Amino acid sequence: MNIVGVSISTGASFTLFTSISNRKFTPSIRNHANLSLWLSSRLFFLPTAKSASLCQMPPLSISTTAIDDEDVKKNPIIEKSRDSYVRRRKSKPSSDQDEIFSNLLRLAVRNQDVGFGSQIHAAILKIHDDDGGEGSMVLFNKVIAMYIKLRRVSYARKVFDQMKFPDVVTYTSLISAYAKCGKEREVVDLFLTMRLADIDFNEFTIVAVLTSCIRNFNLKLGMQVHVLAIKIYNTLDIYISNALMGLYGRLQRSHDVVRLFDKMPNRDVSSWNAVIFGTLKEFRYEQAFTFFHDMRMAGFSGDKFTLSTLLMASEEGLYMEEGEMIHCHSIKIGLELDLSVGNALMSHYTKFSHHVNDIVNIFERMPSKDVISCTSMVWGFMEFGKVKSALEVFNQMKEINSVSYNALMAGFCQNGEYLQALELFRKVIEEGMELSDFTLGTAIHACALASDVERSKQIHGFVTKVGFGSNARIKSSLVDMYSKCNRMKEARMIFDTGGVFNGESCLIGSTSLICGYARNGYFEEALYFFTKLLKHERFGVSIDEILVSTVLGVCGDLGFVDIGKQLHVYVLKLKNHPFDVTLWNSLFSMYSKSGSSDDAAKVYDSMPKHDVTTWNTLIAGHVLHRQGDEAVITWKKMIETSNVTPDHISFLLVLLASKYTSYDPVDICHGLFTSMSSYGIKPHEEHYAAIVSVFGHWNNFNEAEDLIKNMPSEAGALVWRSLLDTCRLNSNFMLGKQAMNHILESTPTDPSTYILISNLYSALGRWHRSEKTRQEMRDKGLRKVPSQSWIFHQNKIHSFHARDQTHLESKDIYSALNILILECMKVGYAPDRSYVLHEVEEFQKENFLFYHSAKLAVTYGHLITTMKGSRAVRVMKNVRLCGDCHSFMKFFSVVTARKIFFRDTSGFHWFIDGRCSCEVQ
Ligand SMILES: [Zn+2]
Ligand SMILES: [Zn+2]
Repeated sequence: MNIVGVSISTGASFTLFTSISNRKFTPSIRNHANLSLWLSSRLFFLPTAKSASLCQMPPLSISTTAIDDEDVKKNPIIEKSRDSYVRRRKSKPSSDQDEIFSNLLRLAVRNQDVGFGSQIHAAILKIHDDDGGEGSMVLFNKVIAMYIKLRRVSYARKVFDQMKFPDVVTYTSLISAYAKCGKEREVVDLFLTMRLADIDFNEFTIVAVLTSCIRNFNLKLGMQVHVLAIKIYNTLDIYISNALMGLYGRLQRSHDVVRLFDKMPNRDVSSWNAVIFGTLKEFRYEQAFTFFHDMRMAGFSGDKFTLSTLLMASEEGLYMEEGEMIHCHSIKIGLELDLSVGNALMSHYTKFSHHVNDIVNIFERMPSKDVISCTSMVWGFMEFGKVKSALEVFNQMKEINSVSYNALMAGFCQNGEYLQALELFRKVIEEGMELSDFTLGTAIHACALASDVERSKQIHGFVTKVGFGSNARIKSSLVDMYSKCNRMKEARMIFDTGGVFNGESCLIGSTSLICGYARNGYFEEALYFFTKLLKHERFGVSIDEILVSTVLGVCGDLGFVDIGKQLHVYVLKLKNHPFDVTLWNSLFSMYSKSGSSDDAAKVYDSMPKHDVTTWNTLIAGHVLHRQGDEAVITWKKMIETSNVTPDHISFLLVLLASKYTSYDPVDICHGLFTSMSSYGIKPHEEHYAAIVSVFGHWNNFNEAEDLIKNMPSEAGALVWRSLLDTCRLNSNFMLGKQAMNHILESTPTDPSTYILISNLYSALGRWHRSEKTRQEMRDKGLRKVPSQSWIFHQNKIHSFHARDQTHLESKDIYSALNILILECMKVGYAPDRSYVLHEVEEFQKENFLFYHSAKLAVTYGHLITTMKGSRAVRVMKNVRLCGDCHSFMKFFSVVTARKIFFRDTSGFHWFIDGRCSCEVQ
């Protein structure tokens, strides 16, 4: 007989038999008997596919094909040898026998074959009594280990329950298994039973119980175990210390981690990993790298866990260079393409790299990829605006989970592909994927961004149907969605339904609602709602810095400096709210945006510290005043003298500011752009859009075109829109048309795109196309934000639309304006009819022009504000002031001898003695 020569189709089984051959397994009658025993236990008649391969063994000298008990009985030699074997086994355990059992148990694990494992278990039971002897105990412990490895903890438990004398290994295996599946109660019960049975635990038992504490965040039990361990062992074992550090690290008690770490006489890689991980939990990223340095000095190079943890630290703490250093180190020690390190590297480069190829390079070289790697690649492509490539990767994914769907959906939203995001959402539902509040939140966000009223209603209905209607996070997303769709009634209705809508979600909801009111021009509602919150502090939300900051933001955006001042006082009165830098920044920004430079300066001087937002607000102030040179000086001061690191907003602002410099800003823009990388900032589309707008402003369209051509990913709608806008202002129709075609390529869903396109057609004199574009916009239910001007007087907002006659003092305003127009015409004002929509009949044009919202507002402001102390008339407008109104204001300042402070979306205008500050610059 030739056992070694048996042809077995699975590699795993072959290993088993070769291992027997390596041990010089000499065929003998006893071995025949052993084999026959397996056969008689029907080991080779297993139900599963993997073990079925064993049935393909060629006939042996002892038939292997159809041996059953009958055959065995018929074979006197086998029968005899079995009987003698069983007798012998009972008296004296055979180590060879046990060795084979152990090997077969291992085989079951390797093949992940529970059925096969159970058969071996049955065979062991047939010949092994649990006699409490060492041999049987070892074997039954192995059976338990087998079941645990095959994730059949309940089977393992049954074996355990039937064992008469379980030992420390038995207990520890089971405790460890329960710990890993989070069954804390079973862990504690078993540990106590073990102690009552007077079985001494070992360090592995302690580690197993600690694992359970880590999984269940049970600090109390963990600390008890810690004390027990110290009592038993004077010096803690390295494994116990590591587990304890893991526990304290998970529970963000990094001082305990470090204390344990410092006391360790010996450390291994896991000890270093635990202490590094502990720092991460408390956001002390720099320390993580210090520990890594010490670790290397101690002679450890780290493992995949060390590297992926550090890469996470570099990503979260914005330590780009350190991350790159870890990348080099991973190449050096051959772990660059390890699954977890590769995944972490992809995530790192998605955040910091300027080229999508850095991510693709790692992804393509990774020998094995999992769902995380592929999802990271999808996200990487989306971050670089490569929607098509992201889709390709997604479509080729063998395994897709809800995280992958969420990444794709969020990516679509990020790239303005709202409709694709919603289409994908439909697919998620059809395929019955798990719906999380993140998935639903993203779909709602897509509707909000698309401002698609119809779909918004549908998704609201769906969310309610699937039972997420009362989920607080979803509700605040719905409030945001409806407020972005200008459906404030619905938004308010959802908010008012109360229920579980409280705490943080209520805060988000309130913020969305207040911003929604403000954005859609319902200023009074915005402030009324806030005052109501202030008075009652109801809805379960206490007014905190964030909400006050938000409302200060609204005041700043709308130029309500008076309300802002009241809030300033309110904030100063708050005792329980620490006056933190965010609040200081909001105040500073509110004064600065409202054009109250003196108050802004006072706040700036009294601030305890200036952070990046403070500096950004300073630069933003210069942008509003169109002070390009001053903005660049402030920028230089920030990077040269302050300890503040600029962020992507700082770059965006200084780029925008360079539009107003007294010198050609091409060089400075290029310089700023290249320096972004040294701060670990990847230029976003908005940065490109800003530079395009600067180049366009300076009539340098060649540079703008070059920049667009050399973008790392295709220019998106934002960049083209920026180009189209400057083309319109500088009458570059040819390039404008190109930009328009690019915008039209991607489905236009934003009303502002239609307005821009319509305006360009108007400028080209193609009225028909212009009107058609506007009609198309109306057909799609898209609404343009109506142009509106407002002034704030005695705690009341007076807001005007064009030809608005709803104001109580409308009659007086119109007659005053008519007189003022005549006065202005006397000193040279000539109405510019090109600013009137073409569809208006010629004789009506002036009427339309004269009663623009800005003119109505400034007239009312003149009527109600006193001339004493020559207080300026302050008017705000939600869109750019039209050319005719701009010209009118100059004459207005002459005939009324008043200063007019005007803020529109392009910044501040001070009209004094017939001149505007925007033209002086
Ligand atoms: Zn106007
Ligand atoms: Zn101006």
